[in-house]
Amino acid sequence: MKKEFAVIGLGRFGGSICRELSEEGMQVLAIDINEERVNDYKNIATYAVIADTTDELALKELDIQDFDHVIVAIGDDIQASILTTVILAELQVKKITVKAQNDYHEKILNKIGAHHVVHPERDMGRRIAHSLISNNILDYLELSEDHSIVEVRAGHKMIGRSLLDLNIRAKYGCNVVAIQKENNEMNVSPHPEDKILEKDILIIIGSNKGINRLERDLIDM
Ligand code: ADP
Repeated sequence: MKKEFAVIGLGRFGGSICRELSEEGMQVLAIDINEERVNDYKNIATYAVIADTTDELALKELDIQDFDHVIVAIGDDIQASILTTVILAELQVKKITVKAQNDYHEKILNKIGAHHVVHPERDMGRRIAHSLISNNILDYLELSEDHSIVEVRAGHKMIGRSLLDLNIRAKYGCNVVAIQKENNEMNVSPHPEDKILEKDILIIIGSNKGINRLERDLIDM
């Protein structure tokens, strides 16, 4: 087996990662402590095995250190998630991605050697909150604590005006990185003189503060 991905914890999140990776043709080792869960993934993942990943020996037996990327998707059992991550870091796994249950969990994971921490419930909550504020905010993705990227429909106040004219960079500290045209064509790195048309979708990157002000001023709520 080419040792591409190992997914630990086959709940809703880990299960869906496992399914998607497998559908994309990746080699996936699915691991869970629960036999029933493992059985559910026997026909989906390349291999599915029962193991308690808080047991270092069990992880060594699976040659976990040889995998390119290990995803820890243990849900409620924060202690098991932390212990598993510590062992993976000690074994010098190349890339460790861990799902955090809360901000405190996330902080600890970053300290103990997780390379990437995901917080799907929180992120999805924020994305949905933004899409609830306005039908014109199509997507919202947090890049860091202070910066995000948003996809918005051009608001009435923008139509027929250029980026320069709207002064987006100076006024809001945001950058329009691309404009998706009505025919789905992407104008990447648009020119400051490019005019915004009705049905354009703008992909904007910037500080959360700037984006929030821009949403309030220029996007129809
Ligand atoms: P979700 O919120 O993504 O649905 P769950 O809490 O339902 O997450 O799933 C987490 C999975 O992690 C469960 O299937 C559980 O059996 C598994 N798990 C918990 N502890 C361990 C462990 N020590 N070793 C391996 N798998 C574990």
